[in-house]
Order: sequence, then structure tokens, then C-alpha cells
Amino acid sequence: MFPCNQCGACCRQIEKIPFAVDMKLPDGSCKYLDHESNLCTIYKSRPIFCRVDDYYDQFLTDKISREDFYRQNLDACEELRKNL
Ligand code: SF4
Ligand code: SF4
Repeated sequence: MFPCNQCGACCRQIEKIPFAVDMKLPDGSCKYLDHESNLCTIYKSRPIFCRVDDYYDQFLTDKISREDFYRQNLDACEELRKNL
């Protein structure tokens, strides 16, 4: 399972995901983020692009190792946290 630390950096910068435009608030965060807890209010039904493991299983198993995909995502998390 992807080791998300629930920092909320991705959900606070949803503006950087072009196909998530309908989820974006004026401040660039996702309308489904609870800013107090940093948790997703639609967690069980969140979109596939918010699900690292499900996204990998559905689209990438024959293209990249899970370990490398996790590493790419963790690098992106680190970059996003720099903007907070
Ligand atoms: S930026 Fe990464 S670690 Fe932080 S909430 Fe998003 S997926 Fe999890
Ligand atoms: S739907 Fe949930 S997990 Fe996805 S960006 Fe919004 S708050 Fe984050």
C-alpha cells in the first residue's frame, strides 16, 4: 500500500491536475478536502487519480514496477510539500 502520510499537499494543489478542474476551489484546493483534518471527505469514492494503488493496478502493471511508481509519487509529494 502506498505510504501516504496524509499531509494533504496534493489535495491542496489540485489545480495542478488538469482533469480535476471540476473539483477545484478558487484557492486551488480540492472541494472535497477537509482543511481541518487534511482528510478526504469522499475517501471511499474518490476518483481513480487520487488512488495510487488502484491507479497502478488498473493502468501500469505492465509498464513500471510498483516500487518505481511509488518512488515517482513520493518525489512528487515532496515537491508539492515545498509549495505549502
Ligand atoms: S502529497 Fe503525498 S503524502 Fe501528502 S497527502 Fe498527497 S499523496 Fe499523501
Ligand atoms: S477527492 Fe479527496 S483525495 Fe482526491 S484530491 Fe480531493 S480531497 Fe484529495
